[in-house]
Amino acid sequence: MEATGMTKKVAIVGAGISGLLACKHLMEKGFDPVVFEASSHIGGVWFQTMESTKLQTPKHLYQFSDFPWPATVKEMFPDHRQVMEYIASYAEHFGVLPKIKFNSRVTGIDYGLMPGCGNEDDMEGWEQWSGSGKLFSGTRGWNLTIKDASNATTVYRADFVVLCIGMFSDLPRVPEFPPDCGPEAFRGRVLHSMNYAQMEKDLADELVRDKRVAVVGFQKSALDIATEVSMINGNHYPCLVLIRSVYWLLPSYVAAFASGSLNRLTEYMIHKPGEGFFLWLVAILCSPLALEEGSILLKKSSGFAFCEDGLVLEGEANGRVSADVVIFATGWETDMKLADIFSSESFRERITGSSAPLYRDCIHPRIPQLAILGYVDSLSVMFSTEIRSKWLAHYLAGGFALPTIGEMERDVDKWERYAKKYCKDKYRWNRTGTLIQIHCNDLLLRDMGLNPKRKRNFLAELFSSYGPTDYRNV
Ligand SMILES: Cc1cc2nc3c(=O)[nH]c(=O)nc-3n(C[C@H](O)[C@H](O)[C@H](O)COP(=O)(O)OP(=O)(O)OC[C@H]3O[C@@H](n4cnc5c(N)ncnc54)[C@H](O)[C@@H]3O)c2cc1C
Repeated sequence: MEATGMTKKVAIVGAGISGLLACKHLMEKGFDPVVFEASSHIGGVWFQTMESTKLQTPKHLYQFSDFPWPATVKEMFPDHRQVMEYIASYAEHFGVLPKIKFNSRVTGIDYGLMPGCGNEDDMEGWEQWSGSGKLFSGTRGWNLTIKDASNATTVYRADFVVLCIGMFSDLPRVPEFPPDCGPEAFRGRVLHSMNYAQMEKDLADELVRDKRVAVVGFQKSALDIATEVSMINGNHYPCLVLIRSVYWLLPSYVAAFASGSLNRLTEYMIHKPGEGFFLWLVAILCSPLALEEGSILLKKSSGFAFCEDGLVLEGEANGRVSADVVIFATGWETDMKLADIFSSESFRERITGSSAPLYRDCIHPRIPQLAILGYVDSLSVMFSTEIRSKWLAHYLAGGFALPTIGEMERDVDKWERYAKKYCKDKYRWNRTGTLIQIHCNDLLLRDMGLNPKRKRNFLAELFSSYGPTDYRNV
């Protein structure tokens, strides 16, 4: 194993939860990282969100392992302000803030090979990650182009880059429609949940007040918006939530139950990623297909088109729905966002060209000297990202070596086949480990040479729930 490289330059992109975690854990290992943050604040998605947004994950799971929620927060599902305060106090407590360069958007990153050290094509033949398997080669590194608030650009040379740019922001995903069937055919207002979340509360309220609002999607933001609309309009103008498929969203009591049951025994029962008890339960809760309940109306439809005064739902005899405002809560172009940060076409293709690209949800086998954090969709993104931040810091400090590129690719391939088999059309590469978090953590701990069994005895190991605090000392 190589000597550690604490003097090497590590650049972290993004100061949301993932970037803060990466920075804190690298600092603990003796590194002096720099964090480039596009905005003027920390916290990422939690800084600006809808008024009604609360944690969907119970707070004991959405918790830094070594920094408990303050006793003043009694709620099981704190609101976004409480989450923001918690994140800010963590950053302050661990001295992360001075490492952050705010208003510094990384517009591109470029893998620089020094003259005489080959070119990107040579990388195809590499067997070891980063060519030699060594962490820091000295002849290669990343050039980050950074744009500040006055649009001036500078280039920062880093030996290693940690991308923490977030999955749920910036690049909205909007469905495509045939000509004349899209928003252009509609005389009302169409926007994405991102734009709604960015509006001042008064303006957002005004937009939906006494209007027929249709929200497309069934992820958390869709129901947050529907809740806000229904609080403003009540039963007078029920808010329509148009669902194509059901995923991720858990009613709070189910989330509480699920999190309490995050133990080895329940994971044994969930023998395949992507199916099992919890998704089954969600499916049951969300049937029948059309559920009318007071001020929110849920409707399931395989597709729809716009018409002048609303929407036409696919496969329904009387499928016309009148609407004044349509809000797409249809998620984000997560892969494109990640790919776009690479200046070189070949690196972009490496990201978008393989459908399950990250080893341990963190390392692309064919993108050297770079890690990605926060690209795992799980019951608690904080929990899954913190353990990977610890893993990465161990790795960068020389704590273990990565397998060869071929071995990593075979592992990635195994996960992809496993997930595709059971998730079928719900398959997304960044969701493969959602319901088997303990198993994923076991793999990471074994890499670090640590005992993955964190409980005092066999019975506790089997029956008591697992959470971030079990990994406090990792
Ligand atoms: C409304 C909402 C509710 C949620 N609720 C839950 C929940 O209950 N439980 C849960 O587990 N997860 C939840 N999530 C998911 C949430 O995204 C994660 O929990 C977590 O906050 C993600 O943190 P992050 O740092 O990875 O990304 P982000 O919070 O998106 O932060 C990314 C940061 O990177 C910066 N950045 C991006 N690109 C660049 C660039 N090129 N240069 C410099 N800086 C850049 C951004 O400005 C941002 O500050 C929710 C998400 C949303 C939107």
